[in-house]
Amino acid sequence: MDLGIKGRSAIVCAASKGLGRACAMALAQEGVKLVINARTVKDLERTADEIRTETGAEVTAVAGDITTDDGRGAVLAAMPDPDILITNAGGPPPGDFHDWDRDIWIAALTANMLTPIEMIRATVDGMIARKFGRIINITSNMVKAPADILGLSNGARCGLTGFVAGLARRKGSDNVTINNMLPGNMDTQRLQSNFVAMAKNADMDLDAYIAMRLKNIPAGRLGDPAEFGALCAYLCSVQAGYITGQNFLIDGGTYPGTF
Ligand code: NAP
Repeated sequence: MDLGIKGRSAIVCAASKGLGRACAMALAQEGVKLVINARTVKDLERTADEIRTETGAEVTAVAGDITTDDGRGAVLAAMPDPDILITNAGGPPPGDFHDWDRDIWIAALTANMLTPIEMIRATVDGMIARKFGRIINITSNMVKAPADILGLSNGARCGLTGFVAGLARRKGSDNVTINNMLPGNMDTQRLQSNFVAMAKNADMDLDAYIAMRLKNIPAGRLGDPAEFGALCAYLCSVQAGYITGQNFLIDGGTYPGTF
């Protein structure tokens, strides 16, 4: 299927590893020109090289912390008018809510709510003027199925989700769509480190904890980041122009509800 986005341009935030990397790779496979970002220069450059080698796409690597003004400024200077924006950042740490003071909350809200909103604010008007835009926010299954130890994530990402729900339905945004992708149990470094924390919290051996988690995933396995990237590329396609303001769980069937 030709997704019709060859020659388009995309910013993919937090993209040297995991889900951001997978989205960048999938877009590059469709012939999209990329600016990718992450903080660690060596990892980011390696990923940029891998994407160029595998796809032949034009990839500019912009190192920096996307949760800072400087980081966002550098990314937007490299590509001021993207057709596609994928927002992403590291997730907040797990813990006990008694330990989260105001500064900890502000850091979580900055990374997982305000940073995506700033990136959208900087790019959406240009998309509307050019009559094409696709914005995907990488959020979390915690938006629909919260775990108490990930309360910082639950709170910050629900704030972003609520904001986007309104913006995506704003009149006059022809052919500019905004959707959220909600990963759960995707096999990345972040997941592996969450498993370590959750095993400790449950006072369980790590292998036993992972086996228990797999038993609770109807698909019987962790998700492959490439599966996540493929859905992202589809949601950025010309064919997906009538899909906006939606939240797409990609969790192997773990979320138990009908809706
Ligand atoms: P990951 O494998 O740890 O990759 C995170 C990527 O983001 C890395 O490239 C990292 O590079 C970059 N990054 C982190 N903080 C950044 C910052 N402040 N500025 C720029 N780049 C930054 O994580 P992942 O599993 O792909 O997770 C992506 C997002 O999805 C996270 O918010 C995570 O909480 C959420 N999520 C994932 C799952 C899952 O099943 N994997 C489930 C629910 C939610 P540097 O460290 O070098 O910056």
